[in-house]
Order: sequence, then C-alpha cells, then structure tokens
Amino acid sequence: MNKALITGAAGFIGSNLCQFLLDKKMTVFAVDNFLTGNKKNLEPLINNPHFHFFAADVLDFDFFKLGKIDYVFHLASPASPVKYRAYPIETLMVNSMGTKKILDYLLKNNTASFVFASTSEVYGNPKEHPQKETYYGNVNPIGDRACYDEGKRFAETLIITYFRRFKLNLRVARIFNTYGPNMEEDDGRVICNFIYQALSNQPITVYGKGEQTRSFCYISDMINGLYLMAKTKNLAGEVINLGNPEEKKIIEVAQLIKKLTLTKSPIIFKPNYPDDPEKRKPDIKKAERLIKWRPKIRLEDGLQKTIIYFKKRYFSL
Ligand code: NAD
Ligand code: UDP
Repeated sequence: MNKALITGAAGFIGSNLCQFLLDKKMTVFAVDNFLTGNKKNLEPLINNPHFHFFAADVLDFDFFKLGKIDYVFHLASPASPVKYRAYPIETLMVNSMGTKKILDYLLKNNTASFVFASTSEVYGNPKEHPQKETYYGNVNPIGDRACYDEGKRFAETLIITYFRRFKLNLRVARIFNTYGPNMEEDDGRVICNFIYQALSNQPITVYGKGEQTRSFCYISDMINGLYLMAKTKNLAGEVINLGNPEEKKIIEVAQLIKKLTLTKSPIIFKPNYPDDPEKRKPDIKKAERLIKWRPKIRLEDGLQKTIIYFKKRYFSL
C-alpha cells in the first residue's frame, strides 16, 4: 500500500485530497494545527483505518517517526487573504521554516515524490496575461499580501535549491483560485463569501468596482491535478500552473451566484484592499503537456455543487 503525507489536512484542499487518496487505497498520514482548518472536514475520514491524523504544527512535528513515505503534499498555510492578514507571521513561518523542515526530512527519505502547494500569488499583480510559469511576477515585498506572496516565493526558491543541490524528487504546483465543498463560511474568499451571503439573504459584497478578474477551478479538478503532479514520472524540479482558464470579472461572479441561488440579496460595493491583483488567468499549456491535465468542470456547474454543499452544511436544506 502506498503511503502519503498531507500537511494542512483539515483545510479545504487538504481534506478533499485525503478523501481522494484514501479512495485510491493509500495509507494517509495527516497533519494540521487547525489554524484555519476545521475538525468537521475530518469527520468523514477519521474512522477509516488507513487514515492517521496528528493534531500538530508542522514546525514542531517529528516527521521522522513516520518512516518511509511515497508521496508528500505540503499544503499547510493560511490561504485566504483575510486569514493570512490575521496570521502573517504564522504564514511566513510555515512556508519558510515549515517547508525546510519537510525538505530536511526528505533528505532521509529521498525517493518520496513531494508536491508543494504554491500559488498564483507569486505573480502578484501581473503585467503578463495570462500568466505562464516563465513570468517572474510583480510583487510588493512589503505590501498587504507580502507575508503570503513572499512566503510562497521563498518556499519555491528553497525547494528548487534543494532540488539542484540534493537531487530530491520535488515538484511545485502553482495553484490558481480554487473553490468547492469544505470551504468555511467565514473563510473570507470570494466564492464562499458570496454563496453564504446569498443563502442568508445578506448583501453580496463586491470589493472595488468588481472589474478585477479571477479564473476559478473546481476542487475535483484541482485534486486530480495535484495527484498527477505527484504520480507522473520525471517531473522533479518542475513548476507547473494548475487552474481553470475560464476568466470572469468579480461582478459577473456575484451576478451568477445571485442567479443560481435565486436570492433577493442586493449586490453592494465596498472599498478594496491594497495590492489586489487586477487580473489573473493561468496559462496551463505546461500542465497539459507534462501531466496531461485539463480542468473539466465549468464555473456554473461547480458553483451549483458548492451551493448544494453550503445549503446542507450551514442551512440544513
Ligand atoms: P485552508 O486554509 O483551508 O487550509 C490550510 C490548512 O493548513 C488549514 O487546515 C490550517 O489549519 C493548516 N495549517 C496552517 N498552518 C499550519 C501549520 N503551521 N501546521 C499545521 N497545519 C497548518 O486553505 P486551502 O485553500 O485548503 O489551501 C491549501 C494550500 O493550497 C495552501 O498552502 C494554499 O496556499 C494553497 N493554495 C490554495 C489556493 C485556493 O484557491 N484554495 C490557491 C493557491 C494556493
Ligand atoms: N472579493 C470581493 N468580495 C468578497 C471577497 C473577495 O469582491 O467578499 C474580491 C477580492 O477583492 C478579489 C477577488 O474577489 O479581487 C478574489 O478574492 P479572494 O479573497 O477569493 O482571493 P484572491 O484571489 O484575492 O487571493
């Protein structure tokens, strides 16, 4: 039986990935300190005899006690702008020292395939559109988002340095905005905010004019991409964008969620935060070529599934 280690397992992507790997008959070791994750996300997993959960901070956890692992997914980090603004030091530390801790463990387990959850935020407010992996980005190193953007950029540099020096089997996934079941109603990211607001008949809060764009990937597509990044041979040292290129203005997303939920909630406009990227869309040719991956779920279909999940979890509908 293959063994996988997932950090950030109680979070949105982590909990979905745990379920996917258990369904693939892997033994899953999972670590989370519940900084932004939720125990509820682990309830469907916890009784599975192949699931082993450790309530711990990556910075303190003794990875060596796990022995040999086949796949490592390092996902632990606040991901919502609201959360990383609330936990800036924790965000910097888990991406820098936390990543180093896992890489040092991999020096002793050097056959494991490691996937790091990086982000489209490494491109900052991009001047190149869509964003290719070769683009260096446009990031404010002391700005409102710096703890996250620079934390992830440092992690990427560290990973590539360990790859060059020690020839470890390391891969970097640059994840673009992803959404779906197991997001929290108070997470602060746009899709869960809008759906929760719409279902509770509160105003839908668009920041700025809503002209800024994002490209949203449904969780099942993202999980598949992360799995292929871990499984595909000869991928060591590669950095690959994972995301859905279906680009939308935020105001369009608000209108679509309003239509799909049949809510009476008005759309209201609030001041935006500094350094909010004006546009974002992945170029995914590299993922298509190297891991034969392309997302399948269209935004409207993914939103329908997420709305059903939110209705059940938060409104008992
Ligand atoms: P999330 O906040 O739902 O999950 C992150 C998890 O990491 C939480 O359960 C949290 O408790 C845990 N965690 C944080 N610090 C930790 C620490 N020091 N030790 C142990 N656990 C810790 O976020 P998510 O959306 O699931 O994101 C997962 C990863 O994917 C993150 O690294 C994020 O940067 C990356 N990512 C996500 C997106 C997205 O759209 N969801 C986009 C780009 C990158
Ligand atoms: N946003 C918004 N209303 C909200 C939450 C977010 O208009 O209630 C906007 C935010 O300003 C950004 C986009 O939606 O332009 C995506 O924000 P999110 O926090 O989901 O992720 P980001 O891509 O900024 O990391």
